Amino acid sequence: MTSPFDVDVVVVGGGPAGLSAALNLVRARQRVLVLDGNRPRNAATLHSHGFLTRDGVSPLELRRLGREEVASYADGDVQFALVDRVSAENGGFRVTAAGVRGAPDQDVTTRRVLVAAGLREVLPAIGNLRAFYGTALHSCYECDGFEKAGAALAVVGESDDLAERALHASVWSDDIIVFTNGVGTVSDGDERMLATHGIRVERRVVTEFVGERAELTGLTLSDGEVIARTAGFVRPRWETTLGYLDGLGADTDENGLLIVDADHRTSVPGLYAAGDITPPGPEQLIVAAGTGAQASATIVRDTVAARTRSI
Ligand SMILES: Cc1cc2nc3c(=O)[nH]c(=O)nc-3n(C[C@H](O)[C@H](O)[C@H](O)COP(=O)(O)OP(=O)(O)OC[C@H]3O[C@@H](n4cnc5c(N)ncnc54)[C@H](O)[C@@H]3O)c2cc1C
Repeated sequence: MTSPFDVDVVVVGGGPAGLSAALNLVRARQRVLVLDGNRPRNAATLHSHGFLTRDGVSPLELRRLGREEVASYADGDVQFALVDRVSAENGGFRVTAAGVRGAPDQDVTTRRVLVAAGLREVLPAIGNLRAFYGTALHSCYECDGFEKAGAALAVVGESDDLAERALHASVWSDDIIVFTNGVGTVSDGDERMLATHGIRVERRVVTEFVGERAELTGLTLSDGEVIARTAGFVRPRWETTLGYLDGLGADTDENGLLIVDADHRTSVPGLYAAGDITPPGPEQLIVAAGTGAQASATIVRDTVAARTRSI
C-alpha cells in the first residue's frame, strides 16, 4: 500500500535520544528522517563519560557514529536542518526546516513526529566562565566528577539548591567552597550544616575566573580578593525552544518541558518526545538514548494499532 506521507517518522534532533530512536525505527522498517540543528548540549566538552562501551568518547564522535549507523539503513536519512514549523496536515504532519552548515531546506509530510530536541543551557553571567567551561568547569557530577576527584572545587550557582549540590560534590572532593555569586540561596541553617562537612559558603559576587587556558587557579570576587580553586561545577538554568510546535498545543510543564505519558506520547496524537526535552529535563547520554529506544517501540506499536483499526 502506498503511503500518503513522504516518510513515516520525522525525528527533530540528532542527539543520542533522536538517533537511538531513529536506529530502532529503521530496524522496524519505518522510513525515518532525522533533522538536526547540530547544537548538542554537551558541545562545550571534549570527552563524554559514562556511556557504556564509549566512556571518554568525544561528543561529536558519538553523534557521528550514531548518524552513520542510522544512515546505513535504506530507510534512514539524517539531515542538518533546524525545524521551524510542525503543523497538522491530513491526519499527520508537515515539517519544514532551514538547512544548516550548507545543507538544503526541508519540507516533508510525515505520519508521526518525535521531538528529541534537547535543552539549551544558560550559565551564570560571570565574565569569562565560558573560557573554562567543559575543561576546568563542568555542570554534571556524574559526567565529570571522577576527573576532578580530590580537586579544590568551586560549586557556583544562582539557584536555591546550592547546599544540596555542594553536598553532592562531596562524593568527589573534601575541599569545596560554595559561591552564591551574590544571588544563589543558602540558608543560615544550611550553611551551618555544610560547615559540619567542611564546606564553606562564599556570598560575594564572582567577577571572573583566573587561570591560563583550561588550568583554573582561582575565582576573583567583587572586592578583588582571589580565592584559589583548581576546578568547579556551575549550576546552569535550562531553557527549551519549542516555538515550532506552537500550532499543535502540546502540553508542557512549568519548566517548558514536553509532558509525555509513560510511553513517550505527548498530549497531541502522533507527536512523541524523548531525551532531555521531557521531564525531569537534563539527564545523561545513555538515559537519553534509552528513552529514544522506548519512544521508538511506542511509535511502532501505535503504527500497528492504527493499521488494525483501519481494517
Ligand atoms: C557540558 C556538558 C557535558 C556533558 N557531559 C556528559 C557526559 O560526559 N556524559 C553524559 O552521559 N552526559 C553528559 N552531558 C549530558 C548530555 O549531553 C545530555 O543528557 C544529552 O546530550 C541529551 O541528549 P538529547 O538527545 O536529549 O539532546 P541533545 O544531545 O542536546 O541533542 C538535541 C539535538 O537537537 C537539536 N535541535 C534542537 N532544536 C532543534 C530543531 N528545532 N530542529 C532540529 N534540531 C534541533 C540540537 O541542535 C541537538 O543537536 C553533558 C552535558 C553538558 C551540557
